[in-house]
Amino acid sequence: MKDIQMVDLNAQYRKLSAEIDDAIKSVLNSAAFIKGQEVRKFEEELQKYLACRNVISCANGTDALQIAMMALGLKPGDEVITTNFTFIATVEVVALLGLKLVLVDPEPGTFNISVEAVRKAITQRTKAIVPVHLFGQCADMDEILEIAREKNLYVIEDAAQATGAEYTFSEGVRKKAGTMGTVGTTSFFPSKNLGCYGDGGALFTNDDELAQKIRSISNHGMKERYHYDDIGVNSRLDTIQAAILLVKLRHLDQFNTSRGKLAAEYDEAFAACPGIEVPARTGRSTHIFHQYTIKVKDGRRDALRKYLESARIPSMVYYPGPLHMQKAYRYLGYGENDFPVTSGLCREVLSLPMHPDMEKEQADYIIQNVLKFFEKG
Ligand SMILES: *Cc1c(COP(=O)(O)O)cnc(C)c1O
Repeated sequence: MKDIQMVDLNAQYRKLSAEIDDAIKSVLNSAAFIKGQEVRKFEEELQKYLACRNVISCANGTDALQIAMMALGLKPGDEVITTNFTFIATVEVVALLGLKLVLVDPEPGTFNISVEAVRKAITQRTKAIVPVHLFGQCADMDEILEIAREKNLYVIEDAAQATGAEYTFSEGVRKKAGTMGTVGTTSFFPSKNLGCYGDGGALFTNDDELAQKIRSISNHGMKERYHYDDIGVNSRLDTIQAAILLVKLRHLDQFNTSRGKLAAEYDEAFAACPGIEVPARTGRSTHIFHQYTIKVKDGRRDALRKYLESARIPSMVYYPGPLHMQKAYRYLGYGENDFPVTSGLCREVLSLPMHPDMEKEQADYIIQNVLKFFEKG
């Protein structure tokens, strides 16, 4: 059996190498490494795929979040509400721009931001909500957009882990992750569901005026050559990455389907295992399993992880420490016990290997070992 990996980028490359090598060579021959035609082409293809009016690529998913907040004109002191259970990038940009970071707990089942907690956190100074579609499943966008309408707030969707996930609104309309709010952001970091071979990111919006602003800000604030209307940043997707993404986008739905099949196998195998809670589904969103994350009961998470490690099965804890307790964020003044859901999840969650190229033999071996750990008690 081949070594099991959390994400097997090598196996994926071997399958796509002919297409990818051609795509890269074509950029090398054109020598248009920045703003080559593949960049615009990829934006257009992604626009079509997402059924979104505007896609603006940039250098990475963290920049995408920052550019979104700059383009919306958020000012120091404006309050931005987001979940405490996310990757650091989501909160980092809020802090970096001098905005006031307001953290809230997620739902314990779906891991996504609690709309009840969002409602409680709103003040006169709240300007935006940043739902994160964590692990590949959309947050409760019916409720979040309703709150935003009521309170006149921006919604910035962090869709870095959910490119391709689809949400069905209560009235039946279906939309892709990142295209429902004021603006959506994603990352093409290699291990994401749609990943390139370096760094990359993008913003999505149906607001054409906002799209123009985003384009300007991501390119030094330049309106036309050497005329600057905004203070901007230098954040571009390079042409080689765009060419790779053009290839991979064509396979994205199939990759996500493969992830879903593996998740269903895990679900079925663990359903009757009392020590494990399998990931809850919201019922409104497809789940594209950026991560397959179980909860391990009775304080046995770390023991399971060690056991798997000894069987050469990798696993990861996303996320091990609540953000409000990180040294850099102590200035926010939160107390250790302010986020009981987040703190509980940090002790219980464990993500198992999940990628589209998992072989049957490997999946069976993972499942058998997880079950063996609980059988031996
Ligand atoms: C990966 C990720 C980001 C940041 O993306 P980068 O491209 O690594 O900058 C932001 N938010 C979430 C939730 C992520 O998982």
